[in-house]
Amino acid sequence: MSCIVMKFGGTSMAGIERIRNVAARVKREVAAGHRVAVVVSAMAGETDRLVGFCREASALYDRAEYDVVVSAGEQVTSGLLAIALQAAGVPARSWLGWQLPIRTSDAHASARIGAIDTAALTAALASGEVAVIPGFQGMADDGRATTLGRGGSDTSAVAVAAALKADRCDIYTDVDGVYTTDPRIVPRARKLSRVTYEEMLELASVGAKVLQTRSVGLAMKEGVRVRVLSSFEEGDSDAPQRGTLIAGEDELDEEIDTVERQLITGIAHDKNEAKVTLTAVPDRPGAVAAIFAPLADAGINVDMIIQNVAHSTGSTDVTFTVPATDLVRALDILERARPAIGFDALVHDSRVAKISVVGVGMRSHAGVASTMFTTLGDRGINIQAITTSEIKVSVLIEEDYTELAVRVLHTAYGLDGEIAA
Ligand code: ADP
Ligand code: ASP
Ligand code: MG
Repeated sequence: MSCIVMKFGGTSMAGIERIRNVAARVKREVAAGHRVAVVVSAMAGETDRLVGFCREASALYDRAEYDVVVSAGEQVTSGLLAIALQAAGVPARSWLGWQLPIRTSDAHASARIGAIDTAALTAALASGEVAVIPGFQGMADDGRATTLGRGGSDTSAVAVAAALKADRCDIYTDVDGVYTTDPRIVPRARKLSRVTYEEMLELASVGAKVLQTRSVGLAMKEGVRVRVLSSFEEGDSDAPQRGTLIAGEDELDEEIDTVERQLITGIAHDKNEAKVTLTAVPDRPGAVAAIFAPLADAGINVDMIIQNVAHSTGSTDVTFTVPATDLVRALDILERARPAIGFDALVHDSRVAKISVVGVGMRSHAGVASTMFTTLGDRGINIQAITTSEIKVSVLIEEDYTELAVRVLHTAYGLDGEIAA
């Protein structure tokens, strides 16, 4: 008897009708003889609403209490799905993060999963009960509630699949797989039937929010085969043409068709970036450390960094990006560190977006970056910052040009397919 983990995202859980649809899908897998653990997200829009309350209560809210508030959305949907399953004649119960427990670090709002105690879960599944687990939430060693960062239910699902040594981890969402870019922006985006962990990791980390980055990293580490598929499409979930399979390069190598052996796998955008500039920072050893150490201590991830040419005055401007959601905290930290850093002005801009092209083919081909710069330049789109990795090039541009940039790059790299009906 195989064990499967099914994860349903916010759109799939938005309202009782849709939760009934989810229950019907779960029931089908149970009827097919599988042991099933289900991981659920909060209803679409609910987490944003709860985050909004925290911000309204205080711009510099306590992150431990934020976790108490925002984890509530998943508590509601897990209970509702258990009720819907029972109503459909399927034995089921919910297991909250602290009940299993799902142990995490104490980095509130972006905690990492440590260990999952599977004893109770395994016993429940063996008794024929469906286990419904709220995604996104866990418990720190001190017993306090934690959450895993936005989109974290994907990571909960992969972690549960790894802990249960599940045969499948199916991520049901509102699109029918991973595309060459966000199909909501580019109607000509093509669905990929297979993507390597490595490429998916890069795509997710630069904004392809279809999977949370950490879920892909964890799947890669634990060797969990992940499938992304639509919760609104009918048909056999085992059918090979359904969804997108994410697995290791070796495993996919023989199977990947030539159409997919493209130089570029995909293009992603991220509007959740904010640009910060410190002007007239003294040009001396240790100055950069004085800026970034306190940000790192606060758990704020700095992404793109540009240190401009030194002025004749012996100072330089330093520009970098942080997640837009961390901007207020970052500014507060930098302002407090002003005496130690010694900058002149602190300037910020949230109206920026990061556009990235990703593909393992880049390792062996030159010219990917220059195609990007030329294509954007031809459209009058200014590049404010650049970063690269072995299989990725990212640029920072004005936010208003995001959709245009993604579309013209998608065409420039030859990724356009047919418009889906
Ligand atoms: P869920 O609530 O199911 O977790 P998300 O909204 O987090 O769903 O992720 C699904 C969304 O990801 C899609 O609706 C789509 O707009 C977006 N997306 C961004 N990039 C891609 C991509 N490359 N392929 C598929 N979807 C993408
Ligand atoms: N509900 C959480 C969020 O919106 C987690 C998730 O849906 O994956 O970020
Ligand atoms: Mg998601």
